[in-house]
Amino acid sequence: MGSEARQGVIDRYREWLPVGDRTPRVDLQEGSTPLVRSRNIGPALGLSALYFKYEGLNPTGSFKDRGMVVAVAKAIEEGAQVLVCASTGNTSASAAAYAASQGMRAIVIIPAGQISLNKLSQALVYGAKVVQIPGNFDAALATVRDLAEHYPVALVNSVNPYRIQGQKTAAFEIVDALGDAPDYLILPVGNAGNITAYWKGFKEYHAAGRSTVLPRLVGAQAEGAAPIVKGAPVAEPKTVASAIKIGNPASWENATLARDESGGLIDAVSDTEILQAQLQLAAAEGLFAEPASCAPLALLVRLVREGRIERDSTSVIVLTGNGLKDPDAALGNVEPPVTIDGDARALAKVLKL
Ligand SMILES: *Cc1c(COP(=O)(O)O)cnc(C)c1O
Repeated sequence: MGSEARQGVIDRYREWLPVGDRTPRVDLQEGSTPLVRSRNIGPALGLSALYFKYEGLNPTGSFKDRGMVVAVAKAIEEGAQVLVCASTGNTSASAAAYAASQGMRAIVIIPAGQISLNKLSQALVYGAKVVQIPGNFDAALATVRDLAEHYPVALVNSVNPYRIQGQKTAAFEIVDALGDAPDYLILPVGNAGNITAYWKGFKEYHAAGRSTVLPRLVGAQAEGAAPIVKGAPVAEPKTVASAIKIGNPASWENATLARDESGGLIDAVSDTEILQAQLQLAAAEGLFAEPASCAPLALLVRLVREGRIERDSTSVIVLTGNGLKDPDAALGNVEPPVTIDGDARALAKVLKL
């Protein structure tokens, strides 16, 4: 009825993806997320151009959908009937949704007791088989890699190269929206698939003449889960930002390559800084993102103050996941609702109107 149906990333970026006539049409209208210009935080920092890539508006609430759609399409093309993944939450929600849309089975392995209820509920409601194991994400990933090597299941973690292929489309969208690549792209780094994917996307577009510059990639880890910053795996990663609570990133080498080739950096921020940034983002911009997604804002604030990001540069922060995914931590830092039992006058009194 007048308006064109929105396309998912496979149709939109078909010529940039390893898909062909035999690839099934998998599409939950992922991608095409807003690039929101900062109204308040950027100007307060004296930055001439700061943007937020609002990936929380993907179908299951995180950027994972961009890569999952390609991984699932290719898995079906290659004859798979069962998908399996390890997850800190968002990958399982995404795998479960795409499996459901294709009538496939999804099995997700999660570290027991470490997944937000909201993310877990997504996987369960989409109909995935959820298996909890003791230990952390790194142990869960080792288990599913072993499973996929010996049984007929398709592994859809970001070690699957089709995930990276799909996720690189976010870089294309940013260049398409800005007319060129930004000077800085700042994002959280957990298993390091996304920083790998962005770098691949920016390089491909640049090589094809779609952008004149390449951005510096700035990765944010959490202090208690900062293996790349420390240069050694972290046996027991700890952070409120569960999506980046990873001690031994699968794409470690690619992350350091992206950092070094782009002239960027990867640094760590504390949980306190992350939660402050989360409230700042919500209160100053009207954007609610989960804790992992707020680590880059915390890092940006520090880098601008230290003069390591120039005020006349263009920066894009990737808000990787929706705030509704994991509201518990944020709720600890806001005033609880007030309860009154009275009329408008009583209400006005409480509100100091
Ligand atoms: C998966 C995820 C990350 C980390 O991405 P990696 O590719 O593992 O580095 C960050 N934030 C959110 C919300 C995620 O779901």
